[in-house]
Amino acid sequence: MKYTRDRTRIVKIGDIEIGGGKTVAVQSMAKTATTDVSGVLGQIERAHNAGCDIFRVSVPDMDSARSLGEIVKNSPIPIVADIHFDYKLALASIEAGVHKLRINPGNIGSPERVKIVANEAMARNIPIRIGVNAGSLPKDIFEKYGKPCADAMVESAEREINILREVGFENIVVSLKSSSPQITLEANLKFSQKYDYPLHIGVTESGFGVQGIVASTVGMTTILSAGIGDTIRVSLTEPPENEVRVAREILRFLGLRKYWVRLVSCPTCARCEVDLPAIAQRVWDNVKYLKNDITVAVMGCVVNGPGEASDADIGVACGKNSGIIFKNGRQISKIRDDEIVSSLLSGIDDLLKGISN
Ligand code: SF4
Repeated sequence: MKYTRDRTRIVKIGDIEIGGGKTVAVQSMAKTATTDVSGVLGQIERAHNAGCDIFRVSVPDMDSARSLGEIVKNSPIPIVADIHFDYKLALASIEAGVHKLRINPGNIGSPERVKIVANEAMARNIPIRIGVNAGSLPKDIFEKYGKPCADAMVESAEREINILREVGFENIVVSLKSSSPQITLEANLKFSQKYDYPLHIGVTESGFGVQGIVASTVGMTTILSAGIGDTIRVSLTEPPENEVRVAREILRFLGLRKYWVRLVSCPTCARCEVDLPAIAQRVWDNVKYLKNDITVAVMGCVVNGPGEASDADIGVACGKNSGIIFKNGRQISKIRDDEIVSSLLSGIDDLLKGISN
């Protein structure tokens, strides 16, 4: 049987529900020491403003676990504790009030320890995400397959799932990540043929800049388009808010989330007689955090400009040192080029207040 995102189990992470066809949630992760509470909270705030739904922090030691209470208390979004090896860190994180654990039970020692963590998580309805990474497969599984591959990743996930099932824990989310988009896709497809646990997806270690964005977009798009993926994280060597912006654009362009302003702007050419890149940048800087599903067009000339501008909720078709503003498909004014940005912004403001002209 194949489980798509409509048919995965619903799992609750704080006040966010994932799985069962719920909205695909966007995650990111802190990139500073967890003991730097104000630094982490600053990253959370910027990520949240950019559209992040769930935020993860690493818990490498007990000092980090002790910092979690303050982070959880002041975070506007649910917090996930990322733990390796030490079950006491998991217990301390649960005690601090985190909303989800990312921990592989096979890493934390004896069945008794797994049971203690699972019981505490169960008592507070905290899910556990099992994270399989192609780069850190168990030695015996790696040797069986001879290389990181989809089957090895699924077998590794199964092993971890069975450890939790043996202690009666089913509140599970799974991720299968690789730096190869093809292997990541294949692993997620194979896994979702067999299990209905919600899947957190991502292409890990994507890099930065254009290459990182393209690797993430290609990898995520193929998986999401196959109907798989209940939460996503774009992993970039960049600040969390940049990861979130890429994630939200992927979801928006796939029609999986309907919010955030879409800015349509032309690439410019010899017909353009205004400083269009500067105009588009100033408009974007003012609208990029607006959580409204509207389209704004900034076009360089009257050849293609009027069509795009009138298709958008609001737009401008520029001319020689001037611009024609369109709103809801109608031309409403002709203005000087130094008035374009302010005119568009006040028009957007009116649109959001429901004023049509
Ligand atoms: Fe060139 Fe006009 Fe097209 Fe912009 S809209 S790329 S200026 S033809």
